[in-house]
Amino acid sequence: MTVPLLEIENLSVNYGAIQAVRGLSLHVEEGEIVTLIGANGAGKTTTLRAVSRMLRPVAGSVRFGGRDISRIPTDEAVRLGIAQSPEGRQVLARQSIQDNLELGAYTRRDAAGVKADIARMYGRFPRLGERRGQLAGTLSGGEQQMLAIARALMSRPKLLLLDEPSLGLAPIIVREIFAIIRELNEQGVTILLVEQNARLAMQSSHRTYVLEAGQITLEGPSRDLVSDERVLQAYLGG
Ligand code: ATP
Repeated sequence: MTVPLLEIENLSVNYGAIQAVRGLSLHVEEGEIVTLIGANGAGKTTTLRAVSRMLRPVAGSVRFGGRDISRIPTDEAVRLGIAQSPEGRQVLARQSIQDNLELGAYTRRDAAGVKADIARMYGRFPRLGERRGQLAGTLSGGEQQMLAIARALMSRPKLLLLDEPSLGLAPIIVREIFAIIRELNEQGVTILLVEQNARLAMQSSHRTYVLEAGQITLEGPSRDLVSDERVLQAYLGG
């Protein structure tokens, strides 16, 4: 029996007195795209941040490839193969595209490999290649999102955490971003995706979890949940 790439068990995360995540369990198998949907404030970002070790849980465990990573520092999580593209993209606005990509490789010591990977990113995202010296803050929203994904890929993750990749982008760019997400997955990157565009996210993923008030309330294959009456009413506009 193979262990899941990511296994979260009974996870609870608080912000002071606020219980943002309450006894949440989920798993992501190697090779999957798994979507996490839920209303604003349901705890989606908090869950991703607990996996990337930017937040410390008050209870529960996070296992990656069978190893308990609940207590390891963030940079070790990156080294193990977990990378996050954060909500709002958070590229370094006053640094160039090239600098942002180098930053994504901060845990790596193989300079030649990093250089080769940056060249590969420019091949995969030609618009970034054309603008490599441009300050990230002057890029369009879609270009910044591509940069945020490319930066996360620079650590050569096994698991990519994507927080709201479509946020604020025009529909045509959103389709482009989702095509990239599916392509990355086909090339072997496992993906845990948080997304407001629930329909597109479910159409692009293998399984979906619905998060309400810090707890999983529904889960299943995305193709089943996309036509589930409860999901239709709450997240797909009836
Ligand atoms: P959204 O879709 O709006 O981003 P979300 O599902 O990602 O929502 P979280 O950002 O995980 O939700 O927030 C879960 C809960 O934790 C919310 O009630 C939120 O107000 C609270 N929260 C999040 N970050 C903090 C913080 N830094 N300090 C205090 N409370 C926080």
